[in-house]
Amino acid sequence: MKRLFYIDYPQEHFEGQAHRYRCAHCKQETTKINGRLEGHLASCEYRIRLEQAGFECNQPSPLPHEDMADEVD
Ligand SMILES: [Zn+2]
Repeated sequence: MKRLFYIDYPQEHFEGQAHRYRCAHCKQETTKINGRLEGHLASCEYRIRLEQAGFECNQPSPLPHEDMADEVD
């Protein structure tokens, strides 16, 4: 199973920073998690729970390679 975004994890405020949130389990900032399961720490309870439920990490799309341009003829 795969989801595009994983945003149903418990979140909490950074202390004294009203507009910043983090995962209540692994304390990674939401902007760093960015809706990705792999944005959580491997030890994150939420991530572990979803992985055990059969959800996969989204693989990053392969970047186009421009190596060809560097080939010396
Ligand atoms: Zn987490």
